[in-house]
Amino acid sequence: MGPATADINVLESLFNEGLDICRINFSHGDYSAVESTIQNIRSLNKKLNRHVGILADLQGPKLRIGMMKNGGVELITGNEILITTKECEGDDQQLFMTYPQFPLDVKVGETVLIDDGKIHLRVIDTNGKDQVRCLITNGAYLSSKKGVNLPNTKISLPCLTVKDIRDLEFALEQDVDWIGLSFVRSVTDIVELKDIIKNKGKRARVIAKIEKPEAIKEIDNIIDVTDGIMVARGDLGVELPMERVPLLQKMIVSKCVQVGKPVIIATQMMESMITSFTPTRAEVNDVANAVMDGADAVMLSAETSVGKFPAKVIEIMRRIITEVEEHETIYYKEHTPQIKTITYITDSICYNACSLAHHAGAQAIISMTNSGYTAFKLSSHRPKAPIFIFTDNVTLLTTLSLVWGVRGYYYDKYDSTDQTIDDLKRIIKEKGLVKDDDLVINIASMPMKEKGRTNMMKLSYIN
Ligand code: PEP
Repeated sequence: MGPATADINVLESLFNEGLDICRINFSHGDYSAVESTIQNIRSLNKKLNRHVGILADLQGPKLRIGMMKNGGVELITGNEILITTKECEGDDQQLFMTYPQFPLDVKVGETVLIDDGKIHLRVIDTNGKDQVRCLITNGAYLSSKKGVNLPNTKISLPCLTVKDIRDLEFALEQDVDWIGLSFVRSVTDIVELKDIIKNKGKRARVIAKIEKPEAIKEIDNIIDVTDGIMVARGDLGVELPMERVPLLQKMIVSKCVQVGKPVIIATQMMESMITSFTPTRAEVNDVANAVMDGADAVMLSAETSVGKFPAKVIEIMRRIITEVEEHETIYYKEHTPQIKTITYITDSICYNACSLAHHAGAQAIISMTNSGYTAFKLSSHRPKAPIFIFTDNVTLLTTLSLVWGVRGYYYDKYDSTDQTIDDLKRIIKEKGLVKDDDLVINIASMPMKEKGRTNMMKLSYIN
């Protein structure tokens, strides 16, 4: 979301083109703009009977240089430059950096990358207090407030900055569905964020943005504690050699699908459409490949937030996704449940429902859930049959909009199992999602009224 989608009519056209979830990037925009965007999303959800979700993305410890004299200056390769932590206007002799511990954390020989890696510096020395001297190893024009990446430096800043804590409080007051945490380095970053959300009595789930080498080293543990992942390819491709990003993307997506954690592929997916009416063929391939990898979501940034064709870019993305999803290869990433775990019975029902849907060619998998667990679990097997989830937990509906293959519906009757199954089959038939004689699979928890874990499965025809 951004200035280009601030108008509710524009946003409505994005909804109509297939938008499922809106990212609000707290690196930009003020609270009143964010509030108005959230209001627009919620009123369109009502008007169009949709469950578009909201992801509030916290900036994290993003490092930046300060303002530059006359807006910017050319940095010449081979010259030296001083980085200071005392606020000043930058020029070709010195730059201000918004990271007070930098002279303490950095070591001689380490690399400083500025403006998405366009400018390279090598550290010559540090006074360990407020100044670091660097050699410009690749110069370019530098304008105010550009981002800085320190791929080799162990940064001592906390993952949640003072700004993030303030933004988090605001986002939680707005009751958003997902919170994105930038520059995650370890499991404790996620645990800390989850504790704050829990202590405030909120329901938001957490997306760990993977963009640091430290996060790659700890990826299994991070996937274990987080609720979802974003492959934040912009910073990831600066912090690590960019040629490593494609295989890292595949590795992360595959791990996430196995354990049923939604995974988002982000950045430069349709970059040329910020100004152009059509994407490049390479961009079309990139989106298609993310879908083939098994991603839950493909994300747009400047293409829709400040781009010239926000609705068109969604339309084209939807067309690419739909085309790829016509083909079998992206389905059936089935994985067997682990015995002797507390979720074994539910996991086993979900696994077998998807496996049966595959072999019987079922047209739908229908389930009820309160926590959402069943929806995430079914989705992790990537069945070709659509997953229809019924819940009386209204807020879960917008949360599930991020989850692959799932469509959520509100339902609050808990009668007998037989009656409920008949009711859900009738509802999806009335919505035109299935037709007479289609084979469908219902999974549920018996007895229904206890709202316990999913423990039964039924295969039947629509009639
Ligand atoms: C990224 O670096 O890929 C990314 C998603 O970051 P940002 O939140 O700054 O867009």
